[in-house]
Amino acid sequence: MSRSWKQGRLTASDANHSQPCVSNPDVVRITADFAIARFDEHPELSTASIGMNDTNRFCECRECLAVAPAEIREKRARIAYAFFDFYNKVADRGAEKYPDTFVIELEDSQDTDG
Ligand SMILES: [Zn+2]
Repeated sequence: MSRSWKQGRLTASDANHSQPCVSNPDVVRITADFAIARFDEHPELSTASIGMNDTNRFCECRECLAVAPAEIREKRARIAYAFFDFYNKVADRGAEKYPDTFVIELEDSQDTDG
């Protein structure tokens, strides 16, 4: 675990071994824009697949841990909540352009140290 990751900041060298900061609005925008561009280029597509990186190193920044309601106290549950909030925000953004076809398909993570 890198020091930068513990502080909730990722460096380029962390990118392949950590999850993104899913509470960061830029991460939502970039992810949605990528999926929208795929739909623009391939109108035959009906889903966009968004998955976690194959690692269990999650962002634990204050913003990510604050997404879940207070009654969810366990850290892993709070992180999971932040991920589903992220997926919903990406889907909402995509649905602005593709309201009838924009579907997010979740992919599985092996949840390993990668
Ligand atoms: Zn974060």
